[in-house]
Amino acid sequence: MKRVGYVTHPDYLLHVPPFEHPESPDRLVAIDEHLRRTGLIESLVPLAPVEPSEEDVARVHDPDYLRRLELACRRGDLTLESEDTYLNKNSYGIALLAAAGAVAGAEAVVTGKVDRAFCAVRPPGHHAARAEGMGFCLLNNTAIAARYLQARHGVSRILIVDWDVHHGNGPRASS
Ligand SMILES: [Zn+2]
Repeated sequence: MKRVGYVTHPDYLLHVPPFEHPESPDRLVAIDEHLRRTGLIESLVPLAPVEPSEEDVARVHDPDYLRRLELACRRGDLTLESEDTYLNKNSYGIALLAAAGAVAGAEAVVTGKVDRAFCAVRPPGHHAARAEGMGFCLLNNTAIAARYLQARHGVSRILIVDWDVHHGNGPRASS
């Protein structure tokens, strides 16, 4: 039987929209409740995010953007330039933790700890570009995990299949 990893973290719920917004902590609460109610949780291998690392994030994102994002959160800005992408004071740290979750899932697969991994992380991370957050995404978790595998595990080619209601733009725009 395939071993499936499940990455999540309670702090992912601390990125809270300051106004009515479709991307809310309830997404992860619903996933977790479903896994517990159905008993599926018993067959998953729990995985924790590794310590968030700016070095891993900086392989994908412009340092000026990271400083701008951190400052905007600290200052209490409600959104980025892209107004569909909200912030609160926790968001920068939680965004690093979300990227670290994607890294942990990818690493567990590459090292053979699990056969595949499901990363229930947020803020989401497939639209953010190199120097711009957008589409509810602050950092590009997907691209950060892919670059991590290339840098640390010598993986050369990685296929990112981005399935959403619209064309995925982030990994391409961030690499
Ligand atoms: Zn999307």
